[in-house]
Amino acid sequence: MSIKIIQGDITKLKVDAIVNAANPSLLGGGGVDGAIHKAAGPKLLEECKTLGGANPGDAKITHGYNLPSLWVIHTPGPIWHGGDKGEEEILKRSYENSMCIARSYHLKSIAFPSISTGVYGYPIEKASVVALNSVNWFLKNCAYYEMEVIFVLHSKKDFDVYIKNAKLLGIEYEL
Ligand code: ADP
Repeated sequence: MSIKIIQGDITKLKVDAIVNAANPSLLGGGGVDGAIHKAAGPKLLEECKTLGGANPGDAKITHGYNLPSLWVIHTPGPIWHGGDKGEEEILKRSYENSMCIARSYHLKSIAFPSISTGVYGYPIEKASVVALNSVNWFLKNCAYYEMEVIFVLHSKKDFDVYIKNAKLLGIEYEL
């Protein structure tokens, strides 16, 4: 079991699955969602149209099409409303349900962007703690074969926050 933290563009990663911070329609949007659809090509949207959307915290899987990754796991995170509207629980479920789907497909390498911390406004300081704790907990308690998770941060600022909080939480990671 391992956790990697890197800075980069998730659409470039040759992994078993990348996770998409989608919106509930699953029909594409801006940010990382837009970048994933652009890199995957129009067949991704065609498949997404068959999924019937997803509630915040749920996750659904599609093929990766023109992406280097084989699969895309789509999960709408919570929109930040100040923190007392169940945002933390929903964000946790986004990570855990994405990991559950990855495990049910026996995927070995899964890359996550920082879900909800763009347009959805979840503060990166708080969201990174949820991301790191949820995935670390899953790897320790629920993974029954070797799984590698890569957190891919688009900006150096977000990358630095993840590193700082991984250290604070005592979570082992590689670069
Ligand atoms: P949300 O709606 O869940 O907030 P966004 O796509 O707006 O989703 O932002 C989520 C995070 O994804 C942000 O931190 C943003 O900087 C990051 N991001 C945007 N493009 C990419 C990319 N190509 N690779 C990795 N992360 C990205």
